[in-house]
Amino acid sequence: MDPEIIAEYQKKFPEVFSIVEGILERFPELDKLLKSQGAVKEQIEAQSKQVLEAVAKDMKPYRDQFETFRQLPAEGRARADVLKELKTMQQAEIKKWKEGYVSGAVYHGDNSHIEYLNEAYAIHSQSNPLHTDLWPSASKFEAEVISMVGRMLSEGAGESVQSELCGSVTSGGSESILLAMKTYRDMAEAERGVKNPEMVAPVTAHAAFDKAAQYFKIKLRKVPVDGSFRADVNAVKKAINGNTVVVIGSAPAFPHGVVDPIEEMSELARAKNIPFHTDACLGGFVLPFARKLGYKVPKFDFNLPGVTSISVDTHKYGYAAKGTSVILYRNAKIRHHQFFTVTNWPGGMYFSPTFAGSRPGGLSAAAWAALVSIGEKGYLEAARRILETADFIKKEIVKIPELKLLGDALYVIAFASDSLDIYKVMEHMTHKGYSLNGLHRPACVHIALTLRHAEPGVKERFIEDLKAAVLHVKANPSEKGSSAPIYGMAATLPVRSVVGDILKTYMDAYYKV
Ligand SMILES: *Cc1c(COP(=O)(O)O)cnc(C)c1O
Repeated sequence: MDPEIIAEYQKKFPEVFSIVEGILERFPELDKLLKSQGAVKEQIEAQSKQVLEAVAKDMKPYRDQFETFRQLPAEGRARADVLKELKTMQQAEIKKWKEGYVSGAVYHGDNSHIEYLNEAYAIHSQSNPLHTDLWPSASKFEAEVISMVGRMLSEGAGESVQSELCGSVTSGGSESILLAMKTYRDMAEAERGVKNPEMVAPVTAHAAFDKAAQYFKIKLRKVPVDGSFRADVNAVKKAINGNTVVVIGSAPAFPHGVVDPIEEMSELARAKNIPFHTDACLGGFVLPFARKLGYKVPKFDFNLPGVTSISVDTHKYGYAAKGTSVILYRNAKIRHHQFFTVTNWPGGMYFSPTFAGSRPGGLSAAAWAALVSIGEKGYLEAARRILETADFIKKEIVKIPELKLLGDALYVIAFASDSLDIYKVMEHMTHKGYSLNGLHRPACVHIALTLRHAEPGVKERFIEDLKAAVLHVKANPSEKGSSAPIYGMAATLPVRSVVGDILKTYMDAYYKV
């Protein structure tokens, strides 16, 4: 690569460049590759395979500990032995999330709650909502989960709005989002004849919207965010055109935890008769209660007439078991564009509301069990504990001179540094056992606070460890990072395509036995 171009990027993205250097140092073959002008795709693939071998080792810690099954064992193993192995792995993995070293991931995690959800799941583990005749209980659970979540996100909107709300239980936030995007693409074609569909979303919207754009061949027009990391309303206005099938806002967005100006954005869409999706995967079960606790929460739900759908994750702050989310629509007419039917299949009349065919009824039972056992009071109390923890952590980060908070977030807290390499700070935290989220554009780190962090002593320990990490990086400015995040690298254009390939090889490594 041209040294002048390299120098230019080094100037433009100093923090990311130091990470690239760290990675390149660790993988000299890739370094050589990038320096050679004619780096071809096959070469990149071959090289990233080598790179991955080092990483893959960390991914498979059980290889030397337990038998690896590349084919079915000739004779089945004793159940007791299998369960013992499962428990050994559980014990090795539990400490990090249980003791609050992890951003997000496990949102409740109390033993008695987990055991209760497991029991609910176990009772209905054979249920498949695809067979509506065999398990009417599944229909009860899913319909009631949707209704409870819908009411929660339309409080005060009036019976005429609330009684029309509908939705589906899905496998997670990504499925909720993918379904909504497919729905709007099909709706725009059916109602307006749109053949070249486009979506409008802030750059901070979740990667699932990029996924939807790729999967369903919808052009994604990304709009910038302002200095407070909220979508730029003027840019949204300019990006909307005759091909727009949906406008998107987040409440809050994953990277910096701030809520977009959903009111203004949804009004822009409504004025043009274009649907608006609020992604409340992260905020749906927190923001309504934060508002009741007196925190400033902008409008984002069905109280806004322009909002036509909301994604909200029961498996995050809804404290259900992993594997459920809800997609809500303002009315059944919209939802019809989501549903799938086929009437000439030899296998019979077939219909399916979501992407999956067979679905885990046990997970719907567990989600229902979570909602009805926690109740409004429980969610309010959980929100209070998380928000108080967040208030403490924000107050303490502000006191660390080398760090600054990004945006005005409630409980997903992003921080950056003007004087230090924030990825090195994160790496130091990793050495201490933490698993925080590395973000880029701009370089920063975030922690999504959960009930795990509201346990006694956790928030104080986090701040002490963070202070120590900052001091360490400050005292050792030339220390090179060794395992800096790969996504930081992607911000430098010269290597972006290489990084994409490396990420794919990473997934290959995941599936290696
Ligand atoms: C987690 C999240 C998603 C995606 O949810 P998954 O359950 O991981 O598929 C979408 N949007 C936001 C804001 C999220 O935080």
